[in-house]
Amino acid sequence: MPENIYNLTRAELRERIATWGEPGYRSDQIWKALYQELAPDAGAMTTLPRPLRERLAESFVFGGLTPANEARSSDGQTRKILFRMPDARAIEAVLMGYARRRTTCISSQAGCAMGCVFCATGQMGFQRHLEAGEIVAQVLWFARELRAKDDRLTNIVVMGMGEPLHNYEATLAACDTLNDPDGFNFGARRITISTVGLAPAIRRFADERRQVNLAISLHGATDELRASLLPVNKRYPLDEVFAAARYYTTTTHRRITFEWALIAGVNDTPEQAEALAKRAAGLLCHVNVIPLNPTTGYEGQASTRERVARFSAALEAHGLACTVRVRRGIDVAAGCGQLAIQS
Ligand code: SAH
Ligand code: SF4
Repeated sequence: MPENIYNLTRAELRERIATWGEPGYRSDQIWKALYQELAPDAGAMTTLPRPLRERLAESFVFGGLTPANEARSSDGQTRKILFRMPDARAIEAVLMGYARRRTTCISSQAGCAMGCVFCATGQMGFQRHLEAGEIVAQVLWFARELRAKDDRLTNIVVMGMGEPLHNYEATLAACDTLNDPDGFNFGARRITISTVGLAPAIRRFADERRQVNLAISLHGATDELRASLLPVNKRYPLDEVFAAARYYTTTTHRRITFEWALIAGVNDTPEQAEALAKRAAGLLCHVNVIPLNPTTGYEGQASTRERVARFSAALEAHGLACTVRVRRGIDVAAGCGQLAIQS
């Protein structure tokens, strides 16, 4: 199986092309064609001599993602694409349009091993990690589409299928490739990685001091409640998650986003708001709440608008900044936690 060209760092590509006996500037041309011109394949790299294009086409796949299905939300601003991969596994990625932002929500794994009870990806189980190039390719696919309309991506969230910090190397390699100033040049500050709370990986992420934003999925502020929703809480209980979060903010001086899907009568209570405020006191953070999106494998219901408002007001009253997120793409199951492949 030929390798995915987007797996390679710029240095690795240079080495590879050098072994072909090509002059040094060729690898720079290829990198530019891949990440600035957004060439979808070797044939489109018209700055290169034909034999080199042919050799590239024989030696590499360009992402390996085949769009196999597309769903458009009735709001007209949300598109979900199902991509097939060379091993016949599939993933989904979403593009959301806002007034000024164009945000893609991409996957880091096919399936997920974390088993959060209300998440459709968790309900399908773990299939495999994505390669860095498969993560990069999702972004480039949308970037190409947008460019054809004289538009561009403004934000990337790694909040699709999978737990990105469980696939740490590939996810961060993808971020670094997308961030390369001589290539796609996508600002790290406009990339957000969301984790279920793998404490050691959060500390590692802090130590590496990238500008990539970090979000942590909480959904519960007592171990008992959180563990009933997120099994991983048994491995990394709240004390460890918050210790890692504090380590992150003190090391990087960057604000953390906490995510909280509001489930009626489960985690939308004043007690939970208070417990969260207590744990997060003095921490450089803010909370994103979103009413739960429906999935087939979980019976819980979204909190009503009033309870959402009351919960966020309770956080604010305790001095915690809170934003209520608007649900998007629910009619085509493109919302948070709704991505899953029925094979
Ligand atoms: N694995 C990572 C990122 C992918 S999930 C994580 O869990 O953080 C992205 C976000 O959607 C997470 O905050 C997750 O908890 C949330 N989510 C999962 N299922 C959901 C649902 N049914 N409704 C609303 N949010 C959900
Ligand atoms: Fe995995 Fe995130 Fe879904 Fe949990 S919420 S099962 S970590 S994708």
